[in-house]
Amino acid sequence: MSRLKIYATSTILGLIMLGAVAALPEQGMVCAAVTPSLSEDTAAYRDTVPIVPRSSWQAQPARPFKRHVPIQITVHHEGGKLLTSSDDAKQRLKNLQHWCMGPDRNWSDIPYHLLISPDGTVYEGRNPLTVGETNTEYDPTGHLLICFLGNYNEQKLDDKLLQVLIDLLVDSCIKYDISPTDISTHRDHSQQTSCPGEDIYAYFKSGYIVGQVKELVKD
Ligand SMILES: [Zn+2]
Repeated sequence: MSRLKIYATSTILGLIMLGAVAALPEQGMVCAAVTPSLSEDTAAYRDTVPIVPRSSWQAQPARPFKRHVPIQITVHHEGGKLLTSSDDAKQRLKNLQHWCMGPDRNWSDIPYHLLISPDGTVYEGRNPLTVGETNTEYDPTGHLLICFLGNYNEQKLDDKLLQVLIDLLVDSCIKYDISPTDISTHRDHSQQTSCPGEDIYAYFKSGYIVGQVKELVKD
């Protein structure tokens, strides 16, 4: 090969390589989005609903507690006092954790994994890989506990809250590989409570929420 040919070939090769490098970031992003194996990976999340970290409500550090992997989802309400969208949800979370970790309960942390405020914000509660805690007779091992702040025997879900719940359930089903048929409410597991309140329970009794989640998980 002549010197000129070698020069021309290496220049062309160099340009091809430059082009490949320049194209890498875009290809990388496209690959990450479409690689089928990712959907089977536990790292493949559908993060439709942002989860506000526990540092935002100045959570105390949790004490050590039993570990688990969520295999079903249970929906709760806080019960007791109402909470409106103009009330301070972060203060309510702080108070709830303080009471739960204090002498009344002596639990390791706030009892629920994810908490929804009346304005639709979702807050991080206890570590989802730690078993939740309960006042009632069921064993929450394996349950991801999602809780609405406030009292839904007296409050009502508006369209926004209903959508937040459905999206959060879909995100969680995908993240933890849980079937939508394994979504239920606290009262389905316990004779001792009306939790998650009449208004939320009505959407489970009619099959509406689980039906919506099934449709979205399929997509
Ligand atoms: Zn409950």
